[in-house]
Amino acid sequence: MNITFRCTSCDRIARITTTGGSVGCPHCGAQTGGSIDDRAGGRLDRCAACPSTELFVRKDFPQGMGLSIIAGGFILSSIALAWHHVVWSLAILVATAAVDAVLYAWVGGVLTCYRCHAEHRGVAELDRHPAFRLEIHERYRQQAARLAEGERDSARRTVL
Ligand SMILES: [Zn+2]
Ligand SMILES: [Zn+2]
Repeated sequence: MNITFRCTSCDRIARITTTGGSVGCPHCGAQTGGSIDDRAGGRLDRCAACPSTELFVRKDFPQGMGLSIIAGGFILSSIALAWHHVVWSLAILVATAAVDAVLYAWVGGVLTCYRCHAEHRGVAELDRHPAFRLEIHERYRQQAARLAEGERDSARRTVL
């Protein structure tokens, strides 16, 4: 299993490959407090980088790739249309959508943590996990904002 997370001690992005046991930062050695049960056969019930159990699955689609395929198809289709090749123009659009759909089905899923945004790749039985839900994401975002606000407040109090 592959885990990508931001270390809370040194604030660097850590990428580790592990089959089980506790999870630590390769840069500074700090333990995340999370661990992977090596008897679970690659299944994961909680984040390996924080105590959260709320995880969601998203497609491991390279950012911008889907969009550039669509954009490329649209441009080619427009060129075909400009040359009055209506059938070609439509065929290109359909082919573009098909390529996009095939790629989408082909790429694997990433198990992502709502709380710390750690990404877990190579997780078994990914379909046991739910898809992204905006209300959970929003709850964690507001929690993080309140936490940052509280830290600023206490920093201000120390200065005064
Ligand atoms: Zn670290
Ligand atoms: Zn996490």
